[in-house]
Amino acid sequence: MKITRVEPIHLRLPVVNERCDGSQETLVVKVHTDAGIVGIGEVDSSSLVAKAVIEAPLSHKICRGLAECVLGQEPFEIDRLIHRMYEGSIFFGRQGVAIHAMSGVEIALWDIVGKATKQPVYKLLGGGFRKKFRAYASILFGDTPAETERIAREQAGKGFRAVKFGWGPMGESEASDIAHVRAARTGLGKDIELMVDAGLCWDTATAIRRSRQFEEFNLTWLEEPLHPDNVQGYARLSAASPIRIAAGEQICDVAEFRTLMDVGGIDVAQVDVTRVGGLARSKRIGWDSYERHRLCVNHSYKTGINIAASLHFVAALPNTHYFEYCVEQGALRQDLTRQRFPVVDGDIAVPEEPGLGADLNEEIVAKYRVG
Ligand SMILES: [Mg+2]
Repeated sequence: MKITRVEPIHLRLPVVNERCDGSQETLVVKVHTDAGIVGIGEVDSSSLVAKAVIEAPLSHKICRGLAECVLGQEPFEIDRLIHRMYEGSIFFGRQGVAIHAMSGVEIALWDIVGKATKQPVYKLLGGGFRKKFRAYASILFGDTPAETERIAREQAGKGFRAVKFGWGPMGESEASDIAHVRAARTGLGKDIELMVDAGLCWDTATAIRRSRQFEEFNLTWLEEPLHPDNVQGYARLSAASPIRIAAGEQICDVAEFRTLMDVGGIDVAQVDVTRVGGLARSKRIGWDSYERHRLCVNHSYKTGINIAASLHFVAALPNTHYFEYCVEQGALRQDLTRQRFPVVDGDIAVPEEPGLGADLNEEIVAKYRVG
């Protein structure tokens, strides 16, 4: 089997605003083969920039678009193709958008291999440690504590047993920060797990102070209190905090994750399969975290493609049981794939169909396609 075409597809809602909701637009990647099998993947990045990284023509040997790196190649040879993409983009890549874009191609390769062998991707990854995960509803804080409490009651009423609030007003003031987290806990009641995503809003000393102030609200973790470059700050915070510290969604480099664990001391490594270069690199990070006795969880704020790929990823790890489940109501998040990946009794199940187990709704693709 040979790869015949790499097709990046930019999808965007008619109105996109500044709130921290990555499900308002996305980049889907289709990889076509001469056997008629088409794999799909997704990229979480600045979609048009990532699209250019895939489509760019050859400039010279180590400066080429990702599509050129894989065209005519055998899709089963995934590690070799990752290497071709990494080396073919090495001086403009290695980090950031080139790695993000690689994720879309790489995930589509796993989908192809799964469809060709009639196996779900998690088995190809050597997994099956768990088939169900506790889905935590991932949502933004309200503008006011009263709205945060209302959202918490709403999510609890949907049967979620864990809810994470993020970004928005966090960082406005000490009183406001505490009021929002108190409101979230009040709305959820004492039995539903609560996570807080600070959204990079504090300096190191404030983050240490908040971690102590939030202790009474029994958080499962405190996420991204600090800038991803503040590794020494993470080290101080992790040593002082009575709450688990989670981070990683801004990072796409395998070695940088190790630094965040070994120097920064984080307790929960958050890996986005559509940012770190795909499933094979995600699995490396996941096992690095296992060997360091940390939790590993998915980061996911995109569509059903990301959800399906993330489920296969976490099923291939022994050190996770939570699953980030974006509950935004936009059409790309809710309708892009025919499968809805429902949460039943608070849990989400790993797909058992061949490949990713995610099929595009082509009407939604046509409706929101840009260019
Ligand atoms: Mg986050």
